[in-house]
Amino acid sequence: MENKKYIIAMDQGTTSSRAILFDKKGEVKSAVQREFRQIYPKAGWVEHDPMEIWSTQMGVTMEAMQKIDALPEEIAAIGITNQRETTILWDVATGKPIYNAIVWQCRRTSDMIEKMKAEGWTDKVREKTGLIPDAYFSAGKIAWILNHIPGSRERARRGEIKFGTVDSWLIWNLTNGAVHATDYTNASRTMLFDIRTLTWDDEILAYFDIPREMLPAVHPSGFRYGTTARFGGEIPIAGAAGDQQAALFGQCGFEPGAVKSTYGTGGFMLMNTGENKILSKNGLLTTLAAGTDERPHYALEGSVFIAGAAIQWLRDEMRMIRSSPQSEAYCNAVEDTGGVYIVPAFSGLGAPYWQQYARGTIVGLTRGVSKDHFIRATVESLAYQTNDLLSAMQDESGMSLAALKVDGGASANNFLMQFQSDISGVRIERPNCIETTALGAAYLAGLTVGYWRNKDEVRANWQCGRVFEPAMTEEKRKALLRGWEKAVKCAIYYAQEE
Ligand code: ADP
Repeated sequence: MENKKYIIAMDQGTTSSRAILFDKKGEVKSAVQREFRQIYPKAGWVEHDPMEIWSTQMGVTMEAMQKIDALPEEIAAIGITNQRETTILWDVATGKPIYNAIVWQCRRTSDMIEKMKAEGWTDKVREKTGLIPDAYFSAGKIAWILNHIPGSRERARRGEIKFGTVDSWLIWNLTNGAVHATDYTNASRTMLFDIRTLTWDDEILAYFDIPREMLPAVHPSGFRYGTTARFGGEIPIAGAAGDQQAALFGQCGFEPGAVKSTYGTGGFMLMNTGENKILSKNGLLTTLAAGTDERPHYALEGSVFIAGAAIQWLRDEMRMIRSSPQSEAYCNAVEDTGGVYIVPAFSGLGAPYWQQYARGTIVGLTRGVSKDHFIRATVESLAYQTNDLLSAMQDESGMSLAALKVDGGASANNFLMQFQSDISGVRIERPNCIETTALGAAYLAGLTVGYWRNKDEVRANWQCGRVFEPAMTEEKRKALLRGWEKAVKCAIYYAQEE
């Protein structure tokens, strides 16, 4: 490993493909990013061109290497992290996709999934896959393509057509069609994978009439998948994981009880629950965590639909701020929100409420309420929603966490982080490197090939940028949370039939 200087992380996201070269200290040595086309054939439908996913990912990786004159022999391994659930079917003989990638956001299979639920499959699917049946997951998307491309089901049965999530598609192309594989975390988002037995589930496959022959082999996230000769010399592909799970790994969330919270456009929280497979009563999902062992840990996952998007709303629709970071100064200009609560339920409320018809609500307005209060109430709503997820997770796991590790664009907001710490009564640790998703993919690959010898070496890289300690009285905290609960009730009440 002496001559190996870097690990490459391929971070294939929903709107862009990125490549980052990390060194042993986990520092970013080179990074290149390129956006690609979002295809919207109809309202609610979202597609990507798989060839564009592949070409942009190749392009950014080569550029990132060239930028610092990195040679293939200096690369210890490649780790992949990707947008989850997005579904690609391709022809083995030509290597060409038979349809565009159907993106996780695409709602075209909603009716199919509603029918499944009406037929009483919900509990069974939950027990096997840890998921609540939804159009997000790959199963319905695979069936949709098989139903719409004539002859494809028979061809898939003969092994002529393969299915993969984006990681599989990249591995297939990187190895020139030699390897058809995925990892536990990506498999656990297909709604076809039994997370108890770690096998594809015949009963759900039969329901969707998806031939087993088209499915990839499933391995631990840190695993020697194969090698690629696409960059000159041979480079091992030694890691693959879905983006949220990769981020938890990148935050060194290796042990049970570790939690990370991502403040991006939406919000995502993941808790490592170890060998404990917890089925949530609050509508959190149960999924597999990324790891290097044969037997992966379980994780609880919750999401907030509107997080940073509420700040964008202040900027683009309300026109109250010019840039997202500006929100912080407004928050600090006042002592509190003047009694105002804003519930940004623009597209309903997720866990733990699950009220799809709830809508955005502003309560507590008085004559003295100013723009500062309004902005502060919006920023605080990110923390309240995150706190709801955190409380649900702590309740159900029975674990109290040592600290909440944060990342994502809005975690740069110091006011928000302090308020989160206050309202949740928890210590918050924000790392220096908030590229945790890519870093997680790099760690998985690097640990697998021995670039990092063990997890302690990796942990030593985790540099805390800033810590936020709770500083609010219990009395005030309780009073604020009561106000939030009432505001949420209003958002839900508004949606109810007369
Ligand atoms: P994504 O990966 O979902 O595109 P990012 O992690 O890049 O999201 O975060 C971008 C989001 O963070 C945007 O919604 C933006 O409004 C918000 N954001 C960025 N900086 C700040 C800040 N200083 N304060 C509040 N919100 C911010």
